[in-house]
Amino acid sequence: MKLKKQDSQIYKLINLETERQKTSLEMIPSENHSSPAVREALGSILTDKYAEGYPGKRYYAGLKYYDILEDLCRERAKKLFKVPHANVQPYSGSPANAAVYMAVCEPGDTVMGLALPMGGHLTHGWKVNFSAKFFKSVQYGVDEKTHLINYEEMEKLAKENKPKLIFVGATAYPRIFDWKRLGEIADSTGAYLAADIAHIAGLVAGGAHPSPVPYVHIVSTTTHKTLRGPRGGMIMVTEKGMKKDPELDKKIDKAIFPGFQGGPHMHQVAAIAVCLKEAATPAFKKYAAQIVKNSKALAEELKKLGFNLITCGTDNHLLLIDLRNKNISGSDAQIALEEAGITTNKNTIPYDPNPPFKPSGIRLGTPAITTRGMKEKEMQKIAGWMREVISNPKSAKRVRKEIASFCKKFPLPR
Ligand SMILES: *Cc1c(COP(=O)(O)O)cnc(C)c1O
Repeated sequence: MKLKKQDSQIYKLINLETERQKTSLEMIPSENHSSPAVREALGSILTDKYAEGYPGKRYYAGLKYYDILEDLCRERAKKLFKVPHANVQPYSGSPANAAVYMAVCEPGDTVMGLALPMGGHLTHGWKVNFSAKFFKSVQYGVDEKTHLINYEEMEKLAKENKPKLIFVGATAYPRIFDWKRLGEIADSTGAYLAADIAHIAGLVAGGAHPSPVPYVHIVSTTTHKTLRGPRGGMIMVTEKGMKKDPELDKKIDKAIFPGFQGGPHMHQVAAIAVCLKEAATPAFKKYAAQIVKNSKALAEELKKLGFNLITCGTDNHLLLIDLRNKNISGSDAQIALEEAGITTNKNTIPYDPNPPFKPSGIRLGTPAITTRGMKEKEMQKIAGWMREVISNPKSAKRVRKEIASFCKKFPLPR
């Protein structure tokens, strides 16, 4: 009510965006619709104070409630992911990963990660990123035929290069990670193994994807993707990590503060605590399972309609479509689908013959539409609309109207 009077421009933009979200299908797999409780904590007075340090060891006065709050948040993270240590202060996923490098590597050390065009993340050693500028980055990929992580190549590269740290995790990988195998590869070379579960954290929390915790030393994540919290990040240390290095918990905490960040965003920490409580409920378990059911249903229907999926399907929340048989680029498909009210993103496919700004694929997923209550039946409808728009972009205007009316039955969380 205050904002409308005081700053009508921003107020209006927020309303326009709300309307856009209400009337379209958010299918970018790294996005979701957070709960009103999460947003209430995020919009709270807790944004006002500095809380540099950790509970019981702060640099400022007036923080007694912040200490209780951060402890609660850490305990919830530890219980949910079954780990002995959690740091909930990273501003987001990339700063969390930067702190992981800082905790266990010196500048110039060798590190290993999945190459970006193969589905990895910038922070896993891609050439334009700090992770390749400050470290010697060795990149592994996916198999040219199966498009599954090439564990053999990875093992060979790890043995040859002896990396200090191996990152595993992805932004565009539709299959389950073989954590056990990855753990063995890291152990055989003495590397620290970090699982970056940014995309799949909600699936792991809800039991819909195997947890890396028994096999890796460090787990980093964002909190705003399948986990459905506010934008944010976390770093966790496993029992295995503490066994390898009894100081690892302290090294991670030091790397975040004072190594990499200043004052934590405590309104964000409060909202992460709220989301972790939500993620520990039976309802969230059902949600995580439904994300995967929807994703599989969407994949099956799209295949029936003649779409080629990377790895022929999905085990998780996302699909990567190879559009080369459809005579449309990922960029043009993204534009046409957006016009129709289906938000996806252009994406490279493994071994993409086309350049990154005009890649051959689109990436899409089901976390946000599952939050709105959509199920397998709705996935069939969505696949039909996608086929229509991609085979005839001129139909986008008409489909836009159908989708807006369809969305009315599936309100945003309120
Ligand atoms: C999203 C993502 C990140 C980065 O998160 P930001 O919050 O955008 O910094 C890191 N790693 C993976 C695998 C991701 O998917």
